Amino acid sequence: MLPAVCQPKWARFVCSVIEDSRAIPQAHALMILTGFLARPNSPGRLIAAYGRSGNLAAARVVFDALPQPTISSWNALIIAHLRNESPFDVLHLYRRMISEGCIRPDSSTFTIALKACTQLSDLDAGEQIRSHAYDLGFQNDVFVSSSLLNLYAKCGKLIEAVEVFERMPRRDLVSWTTMITAFSNSGKSIEAIDYYRKMRVEGVEGDEIVMVGLLQACAAMEDVRAGASIHGHMIRLDMRMDVVVETSLIDMYAKSGYLGLANVVFERMRNKNVVSWSSLISAYAQNGFANEALLMLVRMQDFGFVPDSVALVSALLACSQIGYLKLGKSLHGFVVRRKLKVGVILGTAVIDMYSKCGSLLSARAIFDRLSSRDLIAWNAMIACYGIHGNGKEALSLFLEMKETELKPDDATFASLMSAFSHSGLVSEGRRWFNCMKIEFGLEPWEKHYACMVDLLARAGHVEEAFDLIQTMKIKPGIAIWVALLSGCHIHKKLELGEYVAEKILKLNPHDLGVYLLVSNMYASARNWNKVQEIRRMMKMMGMKKTPGYSLVELDGKFHAFLAEDNSHPEYLQIMAMLERLECEMRKIGYIPKIELVLHDLQDDVKERMLLCHSERLAIAFGLLKTGAGMRILVIKNLRVCEDCHDAIKLISRITNREIVVRDAKRFHHFNDGACSCGDYW
Ligand code: ZN
Ligand code: ZN
Repeated sequence: MLPAVCQPKWARFVCSVIEDSRAIPQAHALMILTGFLARPNSPGRLIAAYGRSGNLAAARVVFDALPQPTISSWNALIIAHLRNESPFDVLHLYRRMISEGCIRPDSSTFTIALKACTQLSDLDAGEQIRSHAYDLGFQNDVFVSSSLLNLYAKCGKLIEAVEVFERMPRRDLVSWTTMITAFSNSGKSIEAIDYYRKMRVEGVEGDEIVMVGLLQACAAMEDVRAGASIHGHMIRLDMRMDVVVETSLIDMYAKSGYLGLANVVFERMRNKNVVSWSSLISAYAQNGFANEALLMLVRMQDFGFVPDSVALVSALLACSQIGYLKLGKSLHGFVVRRKLKVGVILGTAVIDMYSKCGSLLSARAIFDRLSSRDLIAWNAMIACYGIHGNGKEALSLFLEMKETELKPDDATFASLMSAFSHSGLVSEGRRWFNCMKIEFGLEPWEKHYACMVDLLARAGHVEEAFDLIQTMKIKPGIAIWVALLSGCHIHKKLELGEYVAEKILKLNPHDLGVYLLVSNMYASARNWNKVQEIRRMMKMMGMKKTPGYSLVELDGKFHAFLAEDNSHPEYLQIMAMLERLECEMRKIGYIPKIELVLHDLQDDVKERMLLCHSERLAIAFGLLKTGAGMRILVIKNLRVCEDCHDAIKLISRITNREIVVRDAKRFHHFNDGACSCGDYW
């Protein structure tokens, strides 16, 4: 034992040595030699030092040698375990400390134990610790409260989190951030923004982490005003814009439909990474800007980035939107060559691409090769058969799926019912519509009813469809009445038709197509007053028809045609081809349906207008540019009109070509004078 006068000097020395992890054993030895270890706080410091250096075993040795460990030694040992990522040991030590009973835990003990629970997402253990802490009077302790807040936020217990938060005596940036991020992550965007306002009222200034949480909340609400004001706020405060912040900004602008602003943020980014490229590509694809999405994909690779699965899924979506089979195939090839793991999401995107680009067989081949198929993949494949009008295949796939352990959901039935309605399979439709409820306990939704009404009404069972609507528990929406009306129109059920037309007008539709249908219905019923009235309504509402356009892909390049568009360099050749075809068509019974043209014009002008519908221009161009026997694929943004449908059937016979038209609703495979839709569309 050294003389007492030397002790302060030794103490200083030991304290300095103990900070150096290599010197801890020497300091330990010195502490024993000098008797320093017998001082009340010394063991705790030594244990903490061993803990910081990662030597838990040595920390334990010091602790176990203590006859009566103090609270500081206990805490030091518990913290050492948390620091070394052993949350289970933390809880174990905490419980040992409680059960030994002679030591009263303090704020640090509870804080550390709660942190371990948060790491483990162990809410039950956390609740036990909370109740113990409250029993000992720590309910208003800042440190205990913020650890508890973290635990609740991480476990998604927002009500409990709010309760703790509201009771906290002091709320710092960290606790506000915890709340705002927790709300944002659980989709409670309004609350997230509300808490941000409260935080500003209390005079706390936000940092980048809070802003990311807020931007996510704004993106989820598609609230560009709030999002832009946060963006402006960040610029005014000169906040650091890192990749995470900028990508959140892009995402917020894109989800709110402001692609231009998303692009501005993107272009100004100094350090773009794969995630930021992908988020812009997916923004373009999801907003229907397929060409821009694909352009970005090319640019991304020019900059040396390899597209990740998010970018690929988006690019595939873009290909499906415009029917770009050639690029879709090469993306698929890229996935195969790079040996990328084809999970269900990427696999489903490939299936969807092949199907929407007209290659049903390829879609099925990919589906068969998927190593694991979830419900989404099955539903997607059933839907593929549906839009191609292949109801029987859709049903057999559904029956195959029933044999697996997967349970069909309402999306499965929506795909299935829509497949039946696209194929006119009435008795199958009736059977499975009933089974949905009885066998699978699924209550039909509006979309299921709409398919069923469409199926029945088109097949001429208009009264049955009407009765079905009467049994609905939910209020039938406009889609259902429109489906019924079009059945009434086809089958000349004029009385019911006029009744349904009234119903539809009361629902104030915003779709010009619906008004056209209603007007045609009244025209069939020779109710000219009503026809006039509806035309006046259409004019008054200033409704413009969405311009129809069609695309035809030739050698990987797209050629777009608008209706009556004479700007194409080969317009004269195209018109000559159409006139030649019309001549042939008339010989085999074609009569233009001029009643479809809603203008007061001479009949020959109306005929000319029908002749110049965009899909016909596209098909004529395709015929001019491809060799005999080659398939022509045309993508149209609207539905094919009845006149074009008749005409294309005849063109397929005259030219001996397979013509595939994807319209806004489905695929039509025209072959030898008939269409795969069986005139159901
Ligand atoms: Zn047409
Ligand atoms: Zn068809």
